[in-house]
Amino acid sequence: MHNDIGSIVLTEEQIEAACARLGKQLTEDYNGKLPLCVGILKGSVLFMTDLIKHIDTHVEIDFMDVSSYHGGTESTGEVKILKDLGTSVEDRDVIIIEDILETGTTLNSIIDLLKYRKANSIEIVTLLDKPSRRKVDIEAKYVGEKIPDDFVVGYGLDYQEKYRNLPYIGLLKEEVYMK
Ligand code: 5GP
Ligand code: MG
Ligand code: MG
Repeated sequence: MHNDIGSIVLTEEQIEAACARLGKQLTEDYNGKLPLCVGILKGSVLFMTDLIKHIDTHVEIDFMDVSSYHGGTESTGEVKILKDLGTSVEDRDVIIIEDILETGTTLNSIIDLLKYRKANSIEIVTLLDKPSRRKVDIEAKYVGEKIPDDFVVGYGLDYQEKYRNLPYIGLLKEEVYMK
């Protein structure tokens, strides 16, 4: 375990099991369709690559980069599009892939945009869900794990752009925030 990590929230094995379970569900639900998987950069990259290996039907992938966090551990409620999709979503079945659903502000703005662009359907897959933090009325149909209101890092999730490469999800030691 990395020296800055105080405890593990999800092990590699638990993450792999969640990817397998969600991939199987998506395979059943999208069989015969050609969904567009939209990964939200940068946090969802590790989850997306592991998840889609478990989807046993045709999919396309694309990415969007939006930002609502500005380096710290609290959301400012502002969302900015940093990188847009290269694919038209008109009449497409879109599967948004997220690392974590917290207040819902980020995904709410993305969904509004995809609806405006006439997507046929939009569903959310999120590895982690913090329901106690929700500020807008939004639910993910596919959830890896519900977690309490703690700031987590690893497996794509960062603190000041670090820790994304950890293969598990954990809590930082208190002293790391004080550096
Ligand atoms: P929301 O708009 O739902 O409040 O925030 C979603 C985004 O905030 C996530 O995609 C993620 O980038 C960031 N975020 C929310 N909670 C956490 C957390 O516990 N740890 C980290 N590293 N990022 C988080
Ligand atoms: Mg994210
Ligand atoms: Mg971040």
